Amino acid sequence: MAECIFCQIVEGAIPTKKIYEDEQVIAFDDINPQARVHILVIPKLHVVSLDDTEDTHAALLGKLMVVCAKMARERGLAESGYRVVTNIGREAGQTVLHLHLHVLGGRSFTWPPG
Ligand code: AMP
Ligand code: ZN
Repeated sequence: MAECIFCQIVEGAIPTKKIYEDEQVIAFDDINPQARVHILVIPKLHVVSLDDTEDTHAALLGKLMVVCAKMARERGLAESGYRVVTNIGREAGQTVLHLHLHVLGGRSFTWPPG
């Protein structure tokens, strides 16, 4: 998946502000933050979106969520609250076709989302 920008980040070919890494997952600051804190949590495995997952990905998906919470705690968001979002496909506005969870915090959010 050499053409995938997030695979290139995983491989270190594109520099990024990496803030977490384990065998399965990395997290880094979004290049175009939409809140004071805007972190992306991604699997090292190339998966297009949540729609590209099945039972075999259950542990990985759980790990991604746990890392989101860990990142939010480390950035001091746990008390004020924060949002975890994943965009799936065109109408949701997904622009990078490698599964990623946005962790957004440090401001108030509205509901429903735009
Ligand atoms: P989405 O629109 O849900 O697919 O989100 C893709 C996110 O990736 C956007 O918030 C972008 O700002 C972010 N992004 C794209 N390229 C990079 C990069 N090189 N480093 C960090 N974040 C990026
Ligand atoms: Zn990829």
